[in-house]
Formats: sequence, C-alpha cells, structure tokens
Amino acid sequence: MIVKTTGDFKWEGVDVLPYKEDGNMFRDVTRQVMFEGTGDLPVEFRYFEVGPGGHSTLERHEHQHAVMVIRGRGRVLVRDSVTPICCQDIVHIPPMTWHQFRADEDSPLGFLCIVACERDRPQRPCEAELEYLRSSDVVREFIQI
Ligand code: MN
Repeated sequence: MIVKTTGDFKWEGVDVLPYKEDGNMFRDVTRQVMFEGTGDLPVEFRYFEVGPGGHSTLERHEHQHAVMVIRGRGRVLVRDSVTPICCQDIVHIPPMTWHQFRADEDSPLGFLCIVACERDRPQRPCEAELEYLRSSDVVREFIQI
C-alpha cells in the first residue's frame, strides 16, 4: 500500500487530528497516522507537527519512541538533557524516560514517530517527580506543564 503525500507534510486520506483528545498540557500540536501496523510489523507510523513556540506533553511510559525530524527545528528533553534537534536527526525515547518536544519560536517542528500498536498510557509527573525534574536548572527552564 502506498500513501501518497499531498505536499506540505500531509498525506492522502490521512486526517490531521488533534495531538490528544484530552488535556491542555500541550500547545499547538497536530497528529497524523499514516500506517497502523499489520502482521509482524505491529507498529504505527505517525507524523506530529508542533507549531512555532508550541510543545508536546511532558510524559513517560513503558513503550518506546523512535523519532526522525523531517521539518523545522526545536529542542527535546530526554531524561535530564535538552538537545537542539533539526531535520534528519533521530531521537530514541527509551522506556519510562521523561520526554517533551518543543518547537523553536520561529519554526515548526515536524517529526515522524514510530510506536508499538499495543502500548501503555502515558504518565504525567506527580509533584514529587516534578520537584526532582526541577532540581536540574536545564530541565526546570525547559519543561512546560
Ligand atoms: Mn511519548
């Protein structure tokens, strides 16, 4: 099966969805699912786009992400480090690792994200975990909750 792009980081027959149905812990993020897994390839292939200055949810979970940036630039928190990312960079999010994506103020950040079809629900930091995260200056200045 071929899913043709219609240009501008959209694909034929693929809806542009809100990032998450619930919550307000993110800002200006859209989600598209281009492949939903089949047979011995039980993974989803998604495209997320964070608008300029926007961010994804600060979260962790047992399932992993393999990400490739294909548009724009931004920064990503993985565990306790914040790293600038741009087109063609690859990001691996290991199990139970805090992560958050932010687009630069003057650029979108678009990335492909591979994830297992069967996966646990993301967890949000509790107060004690936030306190721990904020013990790092770099993390405290980066995270949006
Ligand atoms: Mn995640």
